[in-house]
Amino acid sequence: MEEQVRQYVETFMANVKAKNPAENEFHQAVEEVVESLAPYIVENPQLMKMKVLERIAEPERVIMFRVPWVNDKGEVEINKGFRVQMNSAIGPYKGGLRFHASVNLGILKFLAFEQVFKNSLTTLPMGGGKGGSDFNPKGKSDNEVMKFCQSFMTELQRHVGQDTDVPAGDIGVGAREIGFLYGQYKRLRNEFTGTLTGKGLDWGGSFIRPEATGYGTCYFAEAMLATRGQTFEGKTVAVSGSGNVAQYAVEKATQLGAKCVTISDSNGYIYDPDGIDAEKLQFVKDLKNVFRGRIKEYADRYPSAQYFEGERPWSVKCDIALPCATQNEVSGDEAATLVANGCICVAEGANMPSTPEAIDKYHEAGILFGPGKAANAGGVAVSGLEMTQNSIRLKWTPKEVDTKLRSIMSDIHDTCVKYGTESDGTVNYVKGANLGGFIKVANAMLAQGIV
Ligand code: NDP
Repeated sequence: MEEQVRQYVETFMANVKAKNPAENEFHQAVEEVVESLAPYIVENPQLMKMKVLERIAEPERVIMFRVPWVNDKGEVEINKGFRVQMNSAIGPYKGGLRFHASVNLGILKFLAFEQVFKNSLTTLPMGGGKGGSDFNPKGKSDNEVMKFCQSFMTELQRHVGQDTDVPAGDIGVGAREIGFLYGQYKRLRNEFTGTLTGKGLDWGGSFIRPEATGYGTCYFAEAMLATRGQTFEGKTVAVSGSGNVAQYAVEKATQLGAKCVTISDSNGYIYDPDGIDAEKLQFVKDLKNVFRGRIKEYADRYPSAQYFEGERPWSVKCDIALPCATQNEVSGDEAATLVANGCICVAEGANMPSTPEAIDKYHEAGILFGPGKAANAGGVAVSGLEMTQNSIRLKWTPKEVDTKLRSIMSDIHDTCVKYGTESDGTVNYVKGANLGGFIKVANAMLAQGIV
C-alpha cells in the first residue's frame, strides 16, 4: 500500500511538472495536496480511474489578455491580464485578483488550485478561480490605477458574471481597485449584480468583508489553541504584512487579549515591544490604505518601535505567528527559530506563506499549524455571504455576518479535526484541510461525469 501511494505521488508530480514547466509555486501547492490525498485516493479506485485529482490540477479554462492603458505622462503601458477558472464543480468560480509585479501564470494557478479546496471547506457553494495582472500599483496615481482597472475590466467582463465567476480582492486589489473595476463592469454590462465582492458598503458590499480574512485567521487560531487549553489572552504575536489581512489580524488578536509586536512590508519589519494598540493600528491603516506609505514610517512616528530594513519578523520571540504577507515568506530556518523561541501556534493569513521545509519544522516540533486554505478561508466565506446578500437584495448587520463568520471558521476547524486526526490523537491540519476540501469537490465531479 505504501509503495502504491509513493508511486501515485511520483507519477502525479512528474506529469504535473512536465505539463506545467517552470511553474514552481504551482508544483509546490499541488505536491502538498497530492501527498495528503494519495492514501485516500489509492484506497478509492473510482477516484483513480476517473482521474479526479488529475482533472482538479488542470484548470477548466485560462484566460490571458493584453491590458493597454495610458499613464499620466501620456505614455502607453502594456500589462498582462489573467483569469484562471480552475474548478466549477460546486459553484461559480470564486477567488481574488492580484495586482503585483511578480504575478505570472504559475502563481495564479497555485492560488486558484488552493482556492478550490478552501472554498469547498467554507461549506458555501463556490468553485475556485484566481486572476490578476503584473501591474504594480505602487507609486501610481489614483488616475493611473483607474485607467488600468478600466482597461483590465473591459476584457475581463466577458468572462465573469454573478453565476459564472465572481472575483474579489487580493494583494494590490483593495477597496479602491474594486470600486474602479465594478464601475467599469456595471457600465459595460448595464447591470447591477454581485459580480465582484469586496464592494463598498453603500453599493452592495457586506459588513465585515474587509475584516473577514484577518478576523477569520484569529478565529481559526483560537479554535486550534482551545484544543490545548490555550487562548490569545496574554500571548505575544508576530504578524507579517501590513495590508488588509495583517491589519485585521492585528485588530482581532489584540481584541482577544494578545499583544502584537510586529508588522511588515516588502521593505522590512517593525518591532514594537509595547504592542500595536488600537491607536497605532489606526495609524497603520491610514498609512497603508490612504497615504500608501511604507511601514518604516511607523518607527518614525512611534519611538518605542525599531525598524529592520530588508528583514522578516520571524526572529522575534513570540507565542503565536500569523504570516499575512505573501507566499514562501517563512523558510525552514525561520520556522526553526520560531519553534526555538517558544512559538506554539502558526496560523496562515496569507496563501502558502510557509515553505515545505517550514511546515516540516512545525510538524516535527508538534506545534499547532493552520494552513492558509483553512485559516484564511474567512475572506472568501464572507465574500460568499456578500453574494448571498446581493442575490436576496438584503443587507445583514455586522453582528449577523460576524456570527456567521465565526461559525464557519469553527466548522472548518471541525472538518480539519475530523479528517486530520492521526492515530496518536494529534491533528494534522494540512491533511485535514486537504482531505476535507477535496471530498465534496470529488463527489460532485464523480456525479457530473467526465467534464
Ligand atoms: P495587501 O496588498 O493588502 O497587503 C499585502 C502585504 O504583504 C503588504 O504589506 C505587502 O507589502 C506585503 N507583501 C506583498 N508582497 C510581498 C513580498 N513579495 N514580500 C514581502 N511582503 C510582501 O494584500 P492582502 O492583505 O489582501 O493579502 C495578503 C496575503 O493574504 C496574500 O497571500 C493573499 O493571497 C492572502 N489572502 C488575502 C485575502 C483577502 O481577503 N484579501 C483572502 C485570503 C488570503 P508592500 O506594501 O511592500 O507590497
